[in-house]
Amino acid sequence: MANTRNNTAIAETLKALEITSENAGTSTGAKTMNAGAVIHSVSPVDGEVIASVTQTTSEEYEQVMQTAAEAFKVWRTMPAPQRGEIVRQFNEELRSLKEPLGKLVSYEMGKSYQEGLGEVQEMIDICDFAVGLSRQLHGLTMHSERPGHRMYEQYHPLGIVGIISAFNFPVAVWSWNTALAWVCGDVCIWKPSEKTPLTGIACQKIAARIFSKNNLPEGISCLINGDYKVGELMTQDERVPLISATGSTRMGKQVAQTVGGRLGKSLLELGGNNAIIVTPDSDLKMTVIGAVFGAVGTAGQRCTSTRRLIIHESIYDKVTNAVVDAYKQLRIGNPLDENNHVGPVIDKEAVKNYQNALEKVVAEGGKILVEGGVLEGEGYESGCYVKPAIAEAENHFEIVQHETFAPVLYIMKYSGDVANAIELQNGVRQGLSSAIMTNNLREAERFLSVAGSDCGIANVNIGTSGAEIGGAFGGEKETGGGRESGSDAWKVYMRRQTNTINYTTQLPLAQGIKFDL
Ligand code: NAD
Repeated sequence: MANTRNNTAIAETLKALEITSENAGTSTGAKTMNAGAVIHSVSPVDGEVIASVTQTTSEEYEQVMQTAAEAFKVWRTMPAPQRGEIVRQFNEELRSLKEPLGKLVSYEMGKSYQEGLGEVQEMIDICDFAVGLSRQLHGLTMHSERPGHRMYEQYHPLGIVGIISAFNFPVAVWSWNTALAWVCGDVCIWKPSEKTPLTGIACQKIAARIFSKNNLPEGISCLINGDYKVGELMTQDERVPLISATGSTRMGKQVAQTVGGRLGKSLLELGGNNAIIVTPDSDLKMTVIGAVFGAVGTAGQRCTSTRRLIIHESIYDKVTNAVVDAYKQLRIGNPLDENNHVGPVIDKEAVKNYQNALEKVVAEGGKILVEGGVLEGEGYESGCYVKPAIAEAENHFEIVQHETFAPVLYIMKYSGDVANAIELQNGVRQGLSSAIMTNNLREAERFLSVAGSDCGIANVNIGTSGAEIGGAFGGEKETGGGRESGSDAWKVYMRRQTNTINYTTQLPLAQGIKFDL
């Protein structure tokens, strides 16, 4: 358990979430298994080991799979609005545990306490959405070309949904998937990031309590823990019809090949390389807030973080100076202290990637506008606190073409028409989030048109970072093409069936084909 100055607050938090010093990393609700090697959950806030978790073995995985398969037989027959009622109860529990869960997210992952609370709020919002959805899982009816026939489509659950999640949204991504999958009648097996296993255990305990209270099978919500090898047990498993995987593009390419190789379905939510276009008609204050929060929020470790700022040459100096000035006011430190704007990055490897990015951008001819560096001394003992940096760069630089998952913002110029800025914005391999700052209707509509942004998310006068649960979330190109959360994203968790019923005494064939006997 943690033994630091954050100790008292965290000990209470862990108690409220029923996390003990012996945490199994494999669970089907009532059954917790504890056979595997140990993974330590290390807080980037102070470098302390918060607690240890066991890695799922292949034998445990097999038991989980069987329990989930049994649970599915029961859960799929429960009417969807009744499944919605269970999600409603789960949500009540989330509401009452919002503060401890938000704090654990902050302490285990390093994002600010406010962002930790915001992440739990997203869980609450998607559950509300899912409860309503449980009464709206509708298909269409069509007119049959044959007389006395009725044709319609219906949606059935898929079965077992495997969820693989990233460290940076350790709980929200799970709930985006589970809340919808559960009301659709699926059961879920979750492998959280090996960097944030405790938040996974906390969520699993909350879910297990609700299923047990309602005398429902424990396997509706299952947890397995460990690194990519444990993830591969699921991606290779034909009993898992859908894998929803969130993480790097490198991971997504491997998962897509494995799941595609067995003709399973995958929902991929991968890396972004998000830009804000700033036109001569932009509002300076809004631009600075959007750009700075987008670039430094969650220490630049959101998939939607602002990586590139594309500014018109006529306002380039004014906007750049205002952003650089705003960076001077940033307070970096313990994310549990609400006075700080920027917390640590996840681990020392992330620090190394950040340093490499700054070296590379200079080597490629970029110019540092806000100096980076790793902070040392009191309060920074974990070695994971870095200074948000800004570099002037060009879009074609190799480093700019990659997602730098750290607080590094690349600023570049465009000239002439907004079409030139859109070309730069689209000129990367990723396609998650994008934004334009402008009060000019023509520019805004151009950005949203078919010749505009090629991303899954395109905002006007809002930054790139974050999204509401009501819309479908995801991106194109190397971001993977998946959509989850709101709108009709639920359809990916179900299989569609077309039904035709003949209520006559004849058997007419479609397309007028005659087959007389
Ligand atoms: P990561 O790719 O290192 O790991 C993500 C998850 O995949 C982990 O649980 C890991 O154990 C698992 N994994 C890795 N290789 C695997 C394999 N071959 N088979 C099965 N599982 C495997 O990513 P990370 O460092 O945890 O997260 C950061 C990345 O996630 C960034 O690229 C970020 O943009 C992306 N991300 C995307 C979204 C989105 O919605 N588009 C949301 C959050 C994070």
